[in-house]
Amino acid sequence: MATKPERFITDGIRIDGRRPEEIRPIKIEVGVLDRADGSCYIEHGLNKILAAVYGPREVHPRHMQRPTTAIVRFRYNMASFSVEERKRPGPDRRSTEVSKVSREALEPVIFRENFPKASIDVFVEVLQADAGTRTVGINAASVALADAGIPMRGLVSACAVGKVDGELVLDPMKEEDNYGEADMPLAMTQKGEITLLQMDGNLTAEELERAIEMAQKGCRTIYELQRDALIERYKKEIEKEENNKEEEEEEENK
Ligand code: UDP
Repeated sequence: MATKPERFITDGIRIDGRRPEEIRPIKIEVGVLDRADGSCYIEHGLNKILAAVYGPREVHPRHMQRPTTAIVRFRYNMASFSVEERKRPGPDRRSTEVSKVSREALEPVIFRENFPKASIDVFVEVLQADAGTRTVGINAASVALADAGIPMRGLVSACAVGKVDGELVLDPMKEEDNYGEADMPLAMTQKGEITLLQMDGNLTAEELERAIEMAQKGCRTIYELQRDALIERYKKEIEKEENNKEEEEEEENK
């Protein structure tokens, strides 16, 4: 495992060259899997994470059906090769917890009542991990849900704030997460409603308040990237639709 650096911040610059309020580089690709209804691949710093969405579809096993609403199932999985020390395959306490909080972070924006008795299934596969995988998983899942055409009140965006050398830092990477003094992942809706807030370590009340503001700012940056990736994916379809509309209008005016 990487060793603890002597200092995390030198002259206002973090060990990977970022400023305290800077997010890692992010690349978002939409619609990468042919057999899923919606999908998204995100590279966020050294994290590489894939999300696939299936549904709305009939619930199996049947007894899990809800008469008035769709159920959302979320499975977060870390590949054995995604981390420095090989991870034992299969679910464990951590992945069960991450799956639960990620599902709860997304549920408030999904119009579940539109699909009684159905299920919406979200799979997140962590291919390479470098801290913040739950937040990147939520970002990818949110875009994949939109790609699947699931009606939503808006996207959900997530990022974490850490504390190193007594200072708050946005979007901690692995060393900062492993050896830092705190880690606080947060997810929020487009409207700014918080749908996930967790914390490891210690923050004062004042730091907590500032950390929430910092994370919300980070989420707004990520939201724009998610939105741009979706627009990029559907640009052609949107253009085609607009051209068709124009042609129809011209026909009508003739
Ligand atoms: N990690 C690991 N092995 C594990 C679980 C986690 O090496 O079995 C690493 C991985 O890089 C992960 C980081 O520890 O991103 C932080 O994990 P945490 O539980 O804080 O969740 P995350 O920050 O990924 O949401």
